[in-house]
Amino acid sequence: MNLTNIGTVKDILSRHGFSFSKGLGQNFIINPDICPKIAESGNACEGFGILEIGTGIGVLTAELAKRADKVVAVEIDTRLLPILEETLADFENVKIINEDVMKCDLHKLINEEFKGLQVAVCANLPYYITSPIIMLLLESRLPIESITVMVQKEAAQRLCAKVGSRDSGAITVGVNYYGTVKKLFDVSRGSFMPAPNVDSAVMRIDLNGERRLDEESERFFFKLVKAGFSQRRKTLANSLSSVIGIPKEKVYEALKAEGLPEAARIEQLDMEQLIAVSAKLMKE
Ligand code: SAM
Repeated sequence: MNLTNIGTVKDILSRHGFSFSKGLGQNFIINPDICPKIAESGNACEGFGILEIGTGIGVLTAELAKRADKVVAVEIDTRLLPILEETLADFENVKIINEDVMKCDLHKLINEEFKGLQVAVCANLPYYITSPIIMLLLESRLPIESITVMVQKEAAQRLCAKVGSRDSGAITVGVNYYGTVKKLFDVSRGSFMPAPNVDSAVMRIDLNGERRLDEESERFFFKLVKAGFSQRRKTLANSLSSVIGIPKEKVYEALKAEGLPEAARIEQLDMEQLIAVSAKLMKE
């Protein structure tokens, strides 16, 4: 079944009485060049199990299943299940899990479903929770090699930004802490049905599997990073005191030790400075 043929897609959707949910970020890929490229650059190959997030009607799922040993896809929208039964009927190596990925026990899923396989994540992410999903995948320290995802342009810019620059965000710190990130290719808005208002890009994050901080320090570090970026226009001292209650004086001292001014904002600190400030504040 050709899931990038507009006529075929419209026919399936209307037979099942399906209407797109904007709230669930449902923009399905209809450009035939995209899914094979995501699968090939996202480790979908022999010896690999692929975790997909958000199947839509299964256009990417099918390309992943052609190449990888097994695909497990988590999809929140129950209305898609009968459609997927039809569109993925030819594949015996696909399992769909009807759940919210944010509530899924991904460690358990990977342990149970991908025994003896290396694991990678591939997805065209729902744009309304792009960063929370990527942060969840990173912070859960899953045994995965890579995360290859389509994201909207703004999220792509944040992912590619330098830590310590205006374009950076908590997600920038996350990907650079846990691995490396690169943009693979741009995707125009016309490649989707329905077409969103912005273009997208496919990004690949390679995880290094190292632990730079112990578990407790790592948790504190990301609590601090998220608090800082939640009020990014404020000084770090102001945001940390208002969001997580760290006294401003303590923040000033930690900044001073790194040669930074009291008025420094989180986007001015590079990775080493963030780690040092966090370590100092955690000891307090
Ligand atoms: N992979 C398909 C494609 O490329 O055509 C669909 C991509 S669409 C951008 C995002 C998909 O994620 C939709 O199928 C949507 O229902 C699903 N989704 C949205 N929120 C989700 C969540 N919290 N957990 C799992 N799936 C979710």
